[in-house]
Amino acid sequence: MTTPDKPPLLLTPGPLTTAEATRRAMLRDWGSRDRDFIALNARVRDGLLAVANGAPTHTTVPLQGSGTFIVEAALCTLVPHRGATGDKADAKLLILSNGAYGQRMARICEVAERSFAVIEAPEDTPIDPAAVQAALEAEPAISHVALVHCETTTGLLNPVSEIAAVVADAGRELILDSMSAFGALPVDVQAGRIGCVVASSNKCIEGPPGFGYAIVREDLLAAARGNAHSLSLDLEHQWRAMGGNGQWRFTPPTHVIAAFDAALAAHAAEGGQAGRHARYAENCETLVTAMREAGFATYLPDDLQAPIIVTFHAPADPAWDFAALYDRLLARGYAIYPGKLTRAETFRIGCIGQVTADDMTGVATAIAEELAAMGVKRFGRG
Ligand SMILES: *Cc1c(COP(=O)(O)O)cnc(C)c1O
Repeated sequence: MTTPDKPPLLLTPGPLTTAEATRRAMLRDWGSRDRDFIALNARVRDGLLAVANGAPTHTTVPLQGSGTFIVEAALCTLVPHRGATGDKADAKLLILSNGAYGQRMARICEVAERSFAVIEAPEDTPIDPAAVQAALEAEPAISHVALVHCETTTGLLNPVSEIAAVVADAGRELILDSMSAFGALPVDVQAGRIGCVVASSNKCIEGPPGFGYAIVREDLLAAARGNAHSLSLDLEHQWRAMGGNGQWRFTPPTHVIAAFDAALAAHAAEGGQAGRHARYAENCETLVTAMREAGFATYLPDDLQAPIIVTFHAPADPAWDFAALYDRLLARGYAIYPGKLTRAETFRIGCIGQVTADDMTGVATAIAEELAAMGVKRFGRG
């Protein structure tokens, strides 16, 4: 049950339920220029680099803000402005979109005036590597490609390795939004020849919200000097300044970074990416099985489902009421998530964070009981 000292389990795409040791790490203050804090910061950057197999070519550049800030910073640092001249005049980003986060990257490019094209697939369809290859052959001006790893809108897993190979073989640079996957699904920037991966503190590493990070090839960053139109979102400048004195350019979220350091240690203790993936996969399988047994239908087929967040069809019953169900579940200690689809009416349940398979069985049971109490008889899709 949710009480003031027992908050609900956050079955969402983040912020997530964190470990007590992670939250406890926020109970002390740090001076941002202290030697110990600088060392902690270096440890976090190195730890993230190791998760991505980034050494020795890549570096981790952290940035204050939510995940969208690091996506915007990466796009606007690596892709020159459309008014750029000289050898930067021809830059163009190809955005591969099958959900809200792909669309958000297009919006960033509109606002920041970056040249872009979009390959748009339906929300239940992975991006087709052959379509990417054809687009790159047809349009030499495309210099960079942006892809969402797990499209959190639905929970769909895009074929990252295949697309990364197509992009690298065509001599273009991939910017991977692995926000909701990094730390749980494999990302190997060496094997995948991936120029830049972005993620944030409050997803699969299970830290609190407050910063994002890009794991970028150093030669890409070095060549990006002066590209950013924004001072605070300039990753090249952030990297260069941090390389000089180990400090963030502007006030760092010290408590969040300290907590993230504890979360990274817990991630390593759980067996790193493979260990975390195993727990999330068990969570996902348990959830899907229990919900199907109760009569629910998943939006995605199992082979497209990432073990991150699951989209379910809303029951085709006149008594269905998401807001009412949400409140009832919250009172029982579970925070679920609304759907975000343009076509189908759905709701979502996250499998990530400090939650177990027992919690998944628990929420599925609670949903069935509360819907029955609300008079919902038909749990299947409309
Ligand atoms: C969470 C997320 C983001 C960033 O969202 P914020 O609300 O800005 O933290 C970006 N892309 C994906 C795929 C995400 O899941």
